[in-house]
Amino acid sequence: LSELHKFIFDGMPVRGMLVRLTDGWREVLARREGADTPYPPELRALLGEMAAAATLMQANIKFNGALVLQVMGDGPVKLAVAEVQPDLAFRVTAKLVGELPAGSGMAAMINAHGRGRCAITLDPKDKLPGQQPYQGVVPLHGDHREPLQKISEVLEHYMLQSEQLDTKLVLAANDQLAAGLLIQRLPVQGQANLEGTQARNEDEIGLNEDYNRIVHLASTLTADELLSLDANTILHRLFWEEPVQRFEPLEGAHGPRFACSCSRTRVGNMLIGLGRQEIDEVLAERGDVEVGCEFCGKKYQFDAVDVGELFAPVGSQAPGSSTLN
Ligand SMILES: [Zn+2]
Repeated sequence: LSELHKFIFDGMPVRGMLVRLTDGWREVLARREGADTPYPPELRALLGEMAAAATLMQANIKFNGALVLQVMGDGPVKLAVAEVQPDLAFRVTAKLVGELPAGSGMAAMINAHGRGRCAITLDPKDKLPGQQPYQGVVPLHGDHREPLQKISEVLEHYMLQSEQLDTKLVLAANDQLAAGLLIQRLPVQGQANLEGTQARNEDEIGLNEDYNRIVHLASTLTADELLSLDANTILHRLFWEEPVQRFEPLEGAHGPRFACSCSRTRVGNMLIGLGRQEIDEVLAERGDVEVGCEFCGKKYQFDAVDVGELFAPVGSQAPGSSTLN
């Protein structure tokens, strides 16, 4: 089962989390296997790391809504998305155009011409009318415009910029497991706040000895270890000399798992958005309209009668006809 472990370091302003996506991650890949365009291994690894990272970030905030982690750019991978709900249900998708050269790193995949970026969106569940989701965007290059090769580095940058939190992320994924370790310095009370209204002295960053020591330990964790050792072994190996206090792991129905939030209603609304004319053209050509969910692969079919109901003015459906809900 997939699992999420939270822990703190007793008496130190440092917290941590370890996530292992197992069954849910394998289901994501299995669903894609049947698709017309399976993901190449390099893209699977990136998506796995993004799923692990987005799960850690969602579990790290108190927010009632989806956390959407996206990278988009100008390489063969136009878009890669990992979305995690407050209950840790996750789903991922990517748009690949053309061939991905074997062994491509993140820069070659997404940031071929330096215009790639990473967006983190917090989309509230119960939006007020006109309310926009919060979105933070960072480039896929470092302070000196050097292209970053790891999504973990991009996200560390994002956390520091947007939330002013020192963060260390170690991520790794293969076809069996997507895993991640997050270490974060806790904000000193009343000092750093999420609004970012209080400017933070750059010199403060890195002053805390405990945090630096723990990050140094976390940095020794290799991708191989993260992918081959269980959570207890990893935490013990890294932090056996530190006062780690662990919480009850989140797993099974309470932990991270694959789930897709697509529905016939949402697909119907998307078709309405495309407009009657475009839909009628597809109907004339194919006899029905079929839309596949890009996240889970589920197919939704609409025939001429369904389309007629979709575009019927509200309240005018014939009695007894099926309604969308
Ligand atoms: Zn779906």
